[in-house]
Amino acid sequence: MEIRLTTLDSPHVVELATTELAVAGTTSKFPVRRVYCVGRNYVEHIREMKEGDERDPPFFFQKPSDSVVNDGAVLPYPMWTDDYQHEIELVVAIAEGGTRIPVGQALDHVYGYAVGIDMTRRDRQREARERMLPWEMGKAFDQSAPCGALHPAAQAGHFDEGAITLSVNGQVRQRGDLKQMIWNVAEIIANLSTQYALAPGDLIFTGTPAGVGAVQPGDRLEGAIAGLDTIHFTIGSKGE
Ligand code: MN
Repeated sequence: MEIRLTTLDSPHVVELATTELAVAGTTSKFPVRRVYCVGRNYVEHIREMKEGDERDPPFFFQKPSDSVVNDGAVLPYPMWTDDYQHEIELVVAIAEGGTRIPVGQALDHVYGYAVGIDMTRRDRQREARERMLPWEMGKAFDQSAPCGALHPAAQAGHFDEGAITLSVNGQVRQRGDLKQMIWNVAEIIANLSTQYALAPGDLIFTGTPAGVGAVQPGDRLEGAIAGLDTIHFTIGSKGE
């Protein structure tokens, strides 16, 4: 059977919405192009995951751009997991693209920063690791990249130190400091730009400190980084 798209008026064709992030204190929106994530970037988290050499260079994976969810949303408990986990992370937004960006110029490419959570289907991620399969099933699922409002670096400066915490129902689960990052923001941008051409609209989740764990329907997540807006998400019910 031949399926042919004859008109864009088809009820089956919807206009693709560009994912946008709020910009703190303004009505401006930041259009998201790609979402990159650093796989391991805090020694204590590498140890709790029992993986990898702590001196390995950074590695990267991606999430779909439409997996980004703005602050305040309900995150439906995802399909195909019984171990849905939080990873609080500093998020970097790119304003100016490039390849092979030198470390010394990398911060000039930054638009701003936000607090994000790399939501993870940990059971699927572990299976992928054990079976040498791609990480998508553990990381790149719907609504897996909740993220707060961006703070432009022009006002907020850059973030290489400061407290980073995640609480569930008021209990602190993850507590670290950005200065514990193995690769800082400039080094991450420089390294990533040797693998992919960065472009305006790219986001980079920079890795999580120790204390990752599972969430359940109804849980309230609060993520904070000193100097950025605190984010709040609620976990929705299963099967939505
Ligand atoms: Mn992560």
